[in-house]
Amino acid sequence: MSSLFSHIFIPVVILLLFSEKFKLSPRELISLSFFAVLPDADSLFFIFRLSPVSLHRVLFHNVFILIVPLLLFILVKSRRQVFGIICFYLISHLILDLFTGGTFLFYPVYDKVFFAHAEILFVNSSFIPVLDYGISDKIMNMGIGEPAVSSENIAVAILLVISTAISAGKLYRKTRQG
Ligand SMILES: [Zn+2]
Repeated sequence: MSSLFSHIFIPVVILLLFSEKFKLSPRELISLSFFAVLPDADSLFFIFRLSPVSLHRVLFHNVFILIVPLLLFILVKSRRQVFGIICFYLISHLILDLFTGGTFLFYPVYDKVFFAHAEILFVNSSFIPVLDYGISDKIMNMGIGEPAVSSENIAVAILLVISTAISAGKLYRKTRQG
Protein backbone atom coordinates (compact mmCIF):
# COMPACT_ATOMS: atom_id res chain seq x y z
CA MET A 1 0.00 0.00 0.00
CA SER A 2 2.92 2.33 0.67
CA SER A 3 3.42 2.98 -3.00
CA LEU A 4 4.55 6.20 -4.66
CA PHE A 5 0.84 6.89 -5.14
CA SER A 6 -0.05 6.64 -1.43
CA HIS A 7 2.98 8.73 -0.49
CA ILE A 8 1.68 11.61 -2.60
CA PHE A 9 -2.08 11.07 -2.50
CA ILE A 10 -2.61 10.72 1.27
CA PRO A 11 -0.73 13.84 2.49
CA VAL A 12 -1.99 15.97 -0.43
CA VAL A 13 -5.62 15.14 0.42
CA ILE A 14 -4.99 15.88 4.14
CA LEU A 15 -3.42 19.26 3.31
CA LEU A 16 -6.19 20.12 0.85
CA LEU A 17 -8.73 19.50 3.62
CA PHE A 18 -6.93 22.01 5.85
CA SER A 19 -5.89 24.43 3.08
CA GLU A 20 -8.62 26.94 3.87
CA LYS A 21 -8.07 26.85 7.62
CA PHE A 22 -4.29 27.38 7.36
CA LYS A 23 -4.52 29.59 4.25
CA LEU A 24 -2.44 27.25 2.10
CA SER A 25 -2.56 27.67 -1.66
CA PRO A 26 -3.77 24.41 -3.27
CA ARG A 27 -1.47 25.04 -6.23
CA GLU A 28 1.53 25.47 -3.91
CA LEU A 29 0.85 22.37 -1.88
CA ILE A 30 0.37 20.24 -4.99
CA SER A 31 3.60 21.49 -6.56
CA LEU A 32 5.47 20.81 -3.29
CA SER A 33 4.09 17.24 -3.11
CA PHE A 34 7.37 16.18 -4.74
CA PHE A 35 8.80 16.28 -1.18
CA ALA A 36 6.40 13.50 -0.17
CA VAL A 37 8.38 11.04 -2.30
CA LEU A 38 11.83 12.64 -2.00
CA PRO A 39 13.04 10.28 0.79
CA ASP A 40 12.80 7.36 -1.67
CA ALA A 41 15.62 8.98 -3.66
CA ASP A 42 17.96 7.12 -1.29
CA SER A 43 17.22 3.96 -3.30
CA LEU A 44 19.02 5.54 -6.29
CA PHE A 45 22.46 5.20 -4.64
CA PHE A 46 22.26 1.42 -4.99
CA ILE A 47 20.49 1.44 -8.36
CA PHE A 48 23.23 3.63 -9.89
CA ARG A 49 25.94 1.64 -8.07
CA LEU A 50 27.10 4.64 -6.04
CA SER A 51 26.93 2.47 -2.92
CA PRO A 52 27.79 -1.25 -2.59
CA VAL A 53 24.93 -1.76 -0.11
CA SER A 54 21.33 -0.56 -0.27
CA LEU A 55 20.83 2.75 1.54
CA HIS A 56 17.10 2.67 0.88
CA ARG A 57 15.04 3.57 3.97
CA VAL A 58 18.32 4.49 5.64
CA LEU A 59 19.88 7.65 4.25
CA PHE A 60 16.80 9.87 3.75
CA HIS A 61 14.36 8.00 6.01
CA ASN A 62 15.40 9.39 9.38
CA VAL A 63 14.27 12.29 11.56
CA PHE A 64 17.44 14.26 10.72
CA ILE A 65 16.17 15.07 7.22
CA LEU A 66 13.70 17.37 9.01
CA ILE A 67 16.40 19.61 10.53
CA VAL A 68 16.85 22.00 7.58
CA PRO A 69 13.14 22.53 6.68
CA LEU A 70 12.23 22.78 10.38
CA LEU A 71 14.91 25.43 11.01
CA LEU A 72 13.76 27.37 7.93
CA PHE A 73 10.15 27.13 9.16
CA ILE A 74 11.17 28.58 12.53
CA LEU A 75 13.67 31.19 11.30
CA VAL A 76 12.32 32.47 7.96
CA LYS A 77 9.58 35.01 8.49
CA SER A 78 8.04 35.34 5.01
CA ARG A 79 6.20 32.50 3.28
CA ARG A 80 7.14 30.09 6.06
CA GLN A 81 4.12 27.91 5.26
CA VAL A 82 6.20 26.50 2.36
CA PHE A 83 8.65 24.96 4.86
CA GLY A 84 5.74 23.81 7.04
CA ILE A 85 4.26 21.96 4.04
CA ILE A 86 7.67 20.40 3.25
CA CYS A 87 8.02 19.21 6.88
CA PHE A 88 4.53 17.70 6.74
CA TYR A 89 5.30 15.83 3.50
CA LEU A 90 8.57 14.43 4.87
CA ILE A 91 6.96 13.37 8.18
CA SER A 92 4.06 11.71 6.34
CA HIS A 93 6.56 9.67 4.31
CA LEU A 94 8.33 8.46 7.46
CA ILE A 95 5.04 7.51 9.14
CA LEU A 96 3.74 5.61 6.08
CA ASP A 97 7.02 3.68 5.79
CA LEU A 98 7.06 3.01 9.54
CA PHE A 99 3.83 1.05 9.05
CA THR A 100 5.03 -0.74 5.91
CA GLY A 101 8.24 -2.46 6.92
CA GLY A 102 9.89 0.20 9.06
CA THR A 103 12.66 2.79 8.65
CA PHE A 104 16.06 3.58 10.16
CA LEU A 105 14.40 6.43 12.06
CA PHE A 106 17.45 7.71 13.94
CA TYR A 107 20.24 6.78 11.49
CA PRO A 108 23.22 7.45 11.78
CA VAL A 109 22.93 7.97 15.57
CA TYR A 110 21.03 4.70 16.18
CA ASP A 111 21.48 1.98 13.58
CA LYS A 112 18.21 0.01 13.98
CA VAL A 113 14.84 -0.18 12.22
CA PHE A 114 11.70 1.13 13.92
CA PHE A 115 8.52 -0.53 12.70
CA ALA A 116 4.81 -0.86 13.37
CA HIS A 117 2.57 -3.48 11.84
CA ALA A 118 -1.19 -3.35 12.30
CA GLU A 119 -3.53 -5.45 10.20
CA ILE A 120 -6.93 -7.08 10.35
CA LEU A 121 -6.87 -10.41 8.54
CA PHE A 122 -9.96 -12.19 7.31
CA VAL A 123 -9.32 -15.92 7.84
CA ASN A 124 -11.89 -18.75 7.96
CA SER A 125 -14.84 -16.32 8.12
CA SER A 126 -13.44 -14.39 11.08
CA PHE A 127 -11.44 -11.21 11.55
CA ILE A 128 -8.05 -11.60 13.22
CA PRO A 129 -6.25 -8.44 14.38
CA VAL A 130 -2.46 -8.47 14.01
CA LEU A 131 -0.46 -5.91 15.96
CA ASP A 132 3.31 -5.85 16.13
CA TYR A 133 5.75 -3.00 16.74
CA GLY A 134 9.25 -2.42 17.96
CA ILE A 135 12.87 -2.24 16.90
CA SER A 136 14.50 -4.65 14.48
CA ASP A 137 17.84 -5.20 12.74
CA LYS A 138 16.35 -5.08 9.26
CA ILE A 139 13.39 -3.77 7.33
CA MET A 140 10.52 -6.29 7.32
CA ASN A 141 9.20 -5.76 3.85
CA MET A 142 10.84 -3.58 1.22
CA GLY A 143 7.83 -3.78 -1.07
CA ILE A 144 9.87 -5.82 -3.53
CA GLY A 145 7.66 -7.16 -6.26
CA GLU A 146 4.80 -4.85 -5.33
CA PRO A 147 3.67 -2.40 -8.00
CA ALA A 148 4.77 1.24 -7.62
CA VAL A 149 1.22 2.16 -8.62
CA SER A 150 -1.33 -0.62 -8.06
CA SER A 151 -4.67 -1.34 -9.68
CA GLU A 152 -6.33 -0.24 -6.42
CA ASN A 153 -4.46 3.07 -6.67
CA ILE A 154 -5.84 3.62 -10.18
CA ALA A 155 -9.40 2.98 -8.92
CA VAL A 156 -8.88 5.51 -6.11
CA ALA A 157 -7.47 8.00 -8.65
CA ILE A 158 -10.56 7.59 -10.87
CA LEU A 159 -12.85 8.23 -7.87
CA LEU A 160 -10.78 11.29 -6.96
CA VAL A 161 -10.95 12.68 -10.50
CA ILE A 162 -14.76 12.18 -10.58
CA SER A 163 -15.25 13.93 -7.21
CA THR A 164 -12.88 16.75 -8.19
CA ALA A 165 -14.80 17.24 -11.45
CA ILE A 166 -18.13 17.35 -9.56
CA SER A 167 -16.90 19.89 -6.99
CA ALA A 168 -15.15 21.98 -9.68
CA GLY A 169 -18.39 22.01 -11.70
CA LYS A 170 -20.37 23.15 -8.65
CA LEU A 171 -17.82 25.87 -7.88
CA TYR A 172 -17.90 27.04 -11.52
CA ARG A 173 -21.73 27.32 -11.49
CA LYS A 174 -21.59 29.15 -8.13
CA THR A 175 -19.09 31.73 -9.43
CA ARG A 176 -21.10 32.23 -12.65
CA GLN A 177 -24.25 32.84 -10.65
CA GLY A 178 -22.18 35.44 -8.80
ZN1 LIG B 1 10.19 5.48 1.58
